Amino acid sequence: MIFTNPSGAPELACDECGCRWFDRLGGDRCTCYECGAPVSGEAQAEFRRAVQAHAAKRGAGAGRAQPDAAASDRGAG
Ligand SMILES: [Zn+2]
Repeated sequence: MIFTNPSGAPELACDECGCRWFDRLGGDRCTCYECGAPVSGEAQAEFRRAVQAHAAKRGAGAGRAQPDAAASDRGAG
């Protein structure tokens, strides 16, 4: 499941318990810290699409108001 945080950015959350803490130390494997449920590749792909859509929206509308935030977004990819 995907939440939108107060700043409008998407956040990936566990389908089982809704928490947003995940163990990503295993690389591709992503499991919930709370209940240990694995996050499906489908959910991760959906989350990436949401992030990209959000970034594209910000890039189109925000201009150069926040150069630091834009730089960190690029670094995360
Ligand atoms: Zn969970």
